[in-house]
Amino acid sequence: MSQPNKSLGREARQISLRQIGIEGQEKLNNSVVVVIGMGGIGCIAASYLTSSGVGKIFICDFDSIDRTNLGRQILYTEKDIGKQKVFCGREKLIELNPKANITAINKRITQTELSKIRGIENAVFLDCTDNFSSRFEINRFAVENNSYLITGSSIRFEGQICVFGNDYNQSSCYECLYSFDDESLDDCSGGGVLNPIPGMIGSLMAIEAIKIITGNEINNSLKIYDGLSSEWKSVNILKNLECHACGKNNNDF
Ligand SMILES: [Zn+2]
Repeated sequence: MSQPNKSLGREARQISLRQIGIEGQEKLNNSVVVVIGMGGIGCIAASYLTSSGVGKIFICDFDSIDRTNLGRQILYTEKDIGKQKVFCGREKLIELNPKANITAINKRITQTELSKIRGIENAVFLDCTDNFSSRFEINRFAVENNSYLITGSSIRFEGQICVFGNDYNQSSCYECLYSFDDESLDDCSGGGVLNPIPGMIGSLMAIEAIKIITGNEINNSLKIYDGLSSEWKSVNILKNLECHACGKNNNDF
């Protein structure tokens, strides 16, 4: 077996993988990923995507760093309190990988804001936000643009991850899974969350993004981890033919 080129450095161990190889690494180096939400999940997902050699990463958030975030958002430290997450995050990610091309977008992301960003036509989107209204906006954009969307969330001892977008005509989107009526469900500020749970979900989202970019197989099931029982559940999501985002009559939004 040929040895990875030493000059490839930080990516050498993943290049050794048959499912990645030099070709997969080149795909990663030429890929574009949009990470929306730079909280506990986004910090870790963006860190691993940066260290894995993703060519261009957009990081989006409108919020600043608060002391109560630091246990989960481990890209930031005490001295970063009060700074905008995306500007601080960009600096830290470039420290992780000086070759990284990181664009910071200091805005609350909506479908309209996403449509203003140039260069994301073939991007993989990671929804690391903490509220349903943003999630629906991002999902609508992904469905309209036929883009891959990975959603992740965490609350209490539980984390969820799901991948959408291999074929919106046949398979589900995020809005087939949740509706606007679910908007009152807890978020992590209200319900609490164990600090490592968002980190685990962020790692899994980075794995799924790498699999998509390198042409490895993905599946649409919702994966739910219960940290108290240490058990995983996998739930198949049925496409909702009446879905307002991906159903046949999807022009009523
Ligand atoms: Zn749908």
